[in-house]
Amino acid sequence: MTDRLAAGAEEWRDRARRFAEAEVLPVAAQIDREDRVPEVLVRGLAREGFLGVGLPERWNGAGGDTRATVAVLEELARASAAVAVLAAVHLSVCAAPILTHGTAEQKERFLRPLARGERVGAFGLTEPGAGSDTARIATRYVREGTEFVLRGTKMFTSNAVTAGVILVFATSDPVLGSRGISAFIVPPGTSGFSVAQRLDKLGLRGSETTELVLDGVRLPSAALLGKEGEGLHVALGALAGGRVGIASCALGVARAAFEELRRSVLAHDEEWKRPILARAYVELTAAQALVDRAATLKDAGEPFVEAASVAKLAASRAAVTIASAGVDVAGPEGVRSGAPAERLLRDARVFPIVEGTTEIQELILARGLLAADRSPIL
Ligand SMILES: Cc1cc2nc3c(=O)[nH]c(=O)nc-3n(C[C@H](O)[C@H](O)[C@H](O)COP(=O)(O)OP(=O)(O)OC[C@H]3O[C@@H](n4cnc5c(N)ncnc54)[C@H](O)[C@@H]3O)c2cc1C
Repeated sequence: MTDRLAAGAEEWRDRARRFAEAEVLPVAAQIDREDRVPEVLVRGLAREGFLGVGLPERWNGAGGDTRATVAVLEELARASAAVAVLAAVHLSVCAAPILTHGTAEQKERFLRPLARGERVGAFGLTEPGAGSDTARIATRYVREGTEFVLRGTKMFTSNAVTAGVILVFATSDPVLGSRGISAFIVPPGTSGFSVAQRLDKLGLRGSETTELVLDGVRLPSAALLGKEGEGLHVALGALAGGRVGIASCALGVARAAFEELRRSVLAHDEEWKRPILARAYVELTAAQALVDRAATLKDAGEPFVEAASVAKLAASRAAVTIASAGVDVAGPEGVRSGAPAERLLRDARVFPIVEGTTEIQELILARGLLAADRSPIL
């Protein structure tokens, strides 16, 4: 434990690579086929500290900074995108906001088991009618005495089936827009809470994506995370940090796709394939540098939100471009079900959507670039 707490990002990377190659890679195709991450792997992630990396020892975290977290997620994603996304959601959009906004009692009760990996965390913001436009959520809460009662539906909630802690966002009145939203910590056993359906999907299979129903879920006032009416601030802060994590998952897929592409070119080396490999290498190394830049800024306590968007855009684009090139170069074999190139392309294709779509990242970036107080010299 002491060694792990003192470890730097490269040591975390080595440990994650060893674990991923020995325990994740051999079952990656099975995870995709069965759409399930085996429980034994989740226990392995916990044992290795990968569900506590980046979280302080004070709360039973495994230590390490954002660069260490990014290295772990990238190595896991290189083996299985689903396993990496499970850890990324747990760490960045569930445990991290509890660390930032939670009371001492909430940290004691929820953060400790999350950081030890005894419970998996989830984040329920998206709804059937509200995704990119988060202020439009319709899940309602009302105060009844000292309790809050929640009613509504959440869509595309990752990790919700195995989760032991779910952050849920609800509004006191949709007319209030962003000012009406509050964040709540919901233990899934709570009466009125149910997983309505698991959503089958193109890629990231194994990372459960679910529809949740909250039908009169009663929570004590201690379940409120942060102040009432500041839930969107909690959510957007979590998503900004989460974007660095998701970017590193996309980077791991891009690396796996690059390695697959290189193997394919080596197997039947032809002149036309070589520039494709070279272009893929440029995309990959640019994405690596941008993910590292975002993580370094975050660790330094510098503004990192814009860098996180840039990293997410670059890494998800690299993953899709390189995985697609892999299918081109592999020819018909590349599109056969179960072929590594085929799975990588399906996994890659989900990253431009999760945790803020490409179009939304571009809108946010452009708004910042055109701001009146923005220096024209970059
Ligand atoms: C695998 C997976 C896992 C997920 N996990 C979670 C989770 O754990 N928790 C959670 O809360 N959510 C989760 N999501 C939801 C995800 O964050 C949303 O899908 C995403 O934010 C987009 O929202 P939406 O699906 O409602 O699409 P919409 O907002 O309806 O967007 C549809 C399309 O329109 C584009 N668009 C929307 N508005 C604009 C605009 N103003 N200008 C230009 N283009 C626009 C979008 O870019 C997109 O291409 C997950 C999604 C997936 C696919």
